Amino acid sequence: MLRALLQASLNLISTSPCPVCGGGADPPDEPGPCLSCRETFDLAPGGLTGDTPLPWLGLGPYEGAYRLLLLSQRQRPKGTVLRGLARALAAEVPGGIGGSILVAIPSWKRQGNPLPNLVVQQLIAQQGQGPPLGARALPLLQRSRPTLGQHHLDRQLRLRNQEDAFRLQPGQRAALPQLKRQPIWLVDDILTTGATALAAAAALEQAGLEVKGLLCLARTPFREPTPGRKRSRPEGEAVEAKGSPPEACAPMAPRGQGQEARAALTGLQRGREAGGGAGRQSVARTP
Ligand SMILES: [Zn+2]
Repeated sequence: MLRALLQASLNLISTSPCPVCGGGADPPDEPGPCLSCRETFDLAPGGLTGDTPLPWLGLGPYEGAYRLLLLSQRQRPKGTVLRGLARALAAEVPGGIGGSILVAIPSWKRQGNPLPNLVVQQLIAQQGQGPPLGARALPLLQRSRPTLGQHHLDRQLRLRNQEDAFRLQPGQRAALPQLKRQPIWLVDDILTTGATALAAAAALEQAGLEVKGLLCLARTPFREPTPGRKRSRPEGEAVEAKGSPPEACAPMAPRGQGQEARAALTGLQRGREAGGGAGRQSVARTP
């Protein structure tokens, strides 16, 4: 009741429709989705933050209605929805993203996930283009080799799957000296273990660039272990949602499917070690 009254009075103050649902209005202090959308999609005020395996900022947990929204955006991206989410995401960054370089994490497939690039475009649209006030999008990274789909991989396998998976775009090397003092944000749609973001950051840091962290739309939440099997919280995997208790986050590979993924990864690494891969280092093999 109180929320409805608040929403009604906000509607009187501002008539701009919610970019995500098309109704309601933006709350004065929270740019982006309306209160009703924030509730539906479980977007915590101030978003989610963490620092493992690198500093990151996200809008909400990748589950429920928000997960369905993002899956639908992957298939059929809608400018207004992504604009609303990007507006909320930009507002979370302490000090803003002005003067930053935004680097979308590239997909391996040509027709890959469009969201990282689209979110970058919308973030830029919030800020204007170019320093000192605006942010700049630069395609600094490319994939250096194929990686497995990671859906069923656990954290260790994801780290190995992504090792040396990125390199600098050769065409961007000339721009490097000018970028060395500029903060860089990686941008992706979903953060799960952070293995992909870590590999992308490593490629930039090896070139002497300063990576501030990752901006993402959602963070995969921790799944409760099955009863009878104790699973300790992975170190540093806490997700801090401002105003709500910390929640552990780490995906677990479903039983059975993890075995297939492990076998496939071992095969992939054998191929790389035999000289088939473009990675600079071979992956340490487990005995
Ligand atoms: Zn809405």
